[in-house]
Amino acid sequence: MNPLNSFTAPFFIVMVFVALGYAWSCAVFPYRACRSCRGYGYFRSPIFRAIRLCRRCDGTGRTLRAGRRAYNAAARTRRAIRRAQDRNRRDGDR
Ligand SMILES: [Zn+2]
Repeated sequence: MNPLNSFTAPFFIVMVFVALGYAWSCAVFPYRACRSCRGYGYFRSPIFRAIRLCRRCDGTGRTLRAGRRAYNAAARTRRAIRRAQDRNRRDGDR
């Protein structure tokens, strides 16, 4: 069954556009506000108004979005595979 002929075609097209839009937004805006400190990067103590840096984001107030984290992991894996292939090719010439 061809999915483009069925009544689910608009659903697939919308999902493709949503996925492309999410990928684009993760490329342009890779960070989101830290969930723990809500983007402040620190916590104020109720006593003496002392400051403690957020441990989750190391005081930056931002964390990578899920899509960007997945892209970075894929890029790391791709680089590791390419490096291993180059190493194998170089060692095979000897
Ligand atoms: Zn934080």
